[in-house]
Amino acid sequence: MTSKNLEIYKILDEMHPDAGCELNHLNPFELIVAVILSAQCTDKRVNIVTQDLFKVVKTPEDLANIDRAELERIIYPCGFYHNKAENLQKMSKSVIELFNGEIPDNREDLMKLAGVGRKTANVVMAEAYGKNAIAVDTHVFRVSNRIGLVKEETPEATELALMKAFDEEKWSHLHHLLIFHGRYTCDARKPKCDECGLKKYCKFYKKEQNLK
Ligand code: SF4
Repeated sequence: MTSKNLEIYKILDEMHPDAGCELNHLNPFELIVAVILSAQCTDKRVNIVTQDLFKVVKTPEDLANIDRAELERIIYPCGFYHNKAENLQKMSKSVIELFNGEIPDNREDLMKLAGVGRKTANVVMAEAYGKNAIAVDTHVFRVSNRIGLVKEETPEATELALMKAFDEEKWSHLHHLLIFHGRYTCDARKPKCDECGLKKYCKFYKKEQNLK
């Protein structure tokens, strides 16, 4: 890990002292449900919905057996409720069939679950089981490429390049730092460069300045 990347990590850490998982959950099952609901939806809204959902759905069996219309009614505020209800019930059925109702703790098994891709698997590994992983969502992809930490075309290539560029024990927190930076400072349309501590390192910022 280069001293420059360590410096960038430290600046991000100073800028976002609260960086961490914003999806409320008490166990791996609740987390995987919340992650699936969070597609195209804010974590804040997911937390409101799961507060109600987890009163009636406490296990993969509950989720597999709940009436579809009732499930759709509860998760409706998260958007895409037809697809999400279907994905949640397929995921729960595969947890029951393949893993006896236990959410797996490793990427390979997590990705065997219906509707679970690499990003969701990485979030569950890191947050529910404390393993080192970098889940690349839209913020992590945009911010890491903008700063110039990596120069990649896809989320998976970005994940692998970030894993090479940072020490393993920093991976999970780096994921939170990049998400927080993307959410609160490095906005997709209007990045708040004036209040960003990374100006001297950021390739995107330097390019913009040269164009002025
Ligand atoms: S300087 Fe601007 S573009 Fe670069 S990381 Fe900071 S907010 Fe984003």
